[in-house]
Amino acid sequence: MLADSFGRVATDLRVSLTDRCNLRCTYCMPPEGLDWLPAPDLLTDDEFVRLVDIGVTLLGIREIRFTGGEPLLRRGLAGIVERTARLEPRPEISLTTNGIGLTRKAAELRDAGLDRINVSLDTLRPEIFRKLARRDRLGDVLDGLRAAASAGLAPVKVNAVLMRDLNDDEAVPLLRFCVDHGYELRFIEQMPLDAQHGWRRDEMVTADEILATLRTSFDISPDTRRERGSAPAQTFLVDGGPARVGVIASVTRPFCGNCDRVRLTADGQVRNCLFARTESDLRGPMRAGASDAELAGLWRRAVAVKLPGHGINDPTFLQPDRPMSAIGG
Ligand code: SAM
Ligand code: SF4
Repeated sequence: MLADSFGRVATDLRVSLTDRCNLRCTYCMPPEGLDWLPAPDLLTDDEFVRLVDIGVTLLGIREIRFTGGEPLLRRGLAGIVERTARLEPRPEISLTTNGIGLTRKAAELRDAGLDRINVSLDTLRPEIFRKLARRDRLGDVLDGLRAAASAGLAPVKVNAVLMRDLNDDEAVPLLRFCVDHGYELRFIEQMPLDAQHGWRRDEMVTADEILATLRTSFDISPDTRRERGSAPAQTFLVDGGPARVGVIASVTRPFCGNCDRVRLTADGQVRNCLFARTESDLRGPMRAGASDAELAGLWRRAVAVKLPGHGINDPTFLQPDRPMSAIGG
């Protein structure tokens, strides 16, 4: 088991397959992009599969989410999914993506064993998409969403981050769009994980604000039918259901006490928290010939020292050195 000293057990592994991306969302990356990890530093497909195998068979991991950067840019993605789906016990496999390129890949990924998908969509207006993601690709994202739904990756979830004075007037249109298309929308509070360190607590759009805005147009009621457990999203019924909307209030209502997540970066570092300021290297020992049991031991030790909370609201909070795109959201 991957247990920490506060009694939490990590069963949900987020794997970043690449730090590269074809968008430049302002809350994540600077316009010029970042210095991408050099190719020799990146785990190979076989190395990813070996570590995921250790997580599942030796350490009690039950869910794997592939993310990035943009995971669809990783050429071996379908093969990695397929090999993950063969592990025993079979983990739940999901993907977080910006959706660009899904039209070509959704069916292949489903056939490989992908169970669920989250597509990020912050705006329905092309000119705002161009400002927010700094690329003219809204049409591709919408096509990708449709492709995911027709491939049967339902219910497709949509992730949205609202930015003050940019797309904070889109909470209602985004929810209407998702309800009409059968997608489940989740708003994520903007977190201090951008490479430019531009996040300001007093500028961020809060969960309370988002819910108040939604209530101007919808009946939003607590979703008592779904157990929240360790899920980051608090879910609500829209107009009595069955449609739902979620809010991930990482900043204003932290859920660290119930966290069951652990992360593996594209260069083989275990992070016990999005906001951790330390990492544990598995790549070096793996390439030096460590056994599965030795790697499992290093991984256990990395999780054992997890802090009780992310500390974003402490005056002494320091943003981690890696930005979101290099950690894996
Ligand atoms: N590129 C893929 C995507 O955009 O879905 C996967 C990686 S991205 C880092 C994963 C999720 O993190 C996206 O839904 C994105 O909106 C979210 N995200 C990125 N930076 C964030 C930030 N500073 N605060 C909150 N969410 C953020
Ligand atoms: Fe790329 Fe996702 Fe970051 Fe946007 S949020 S720049 S799509 S990694």
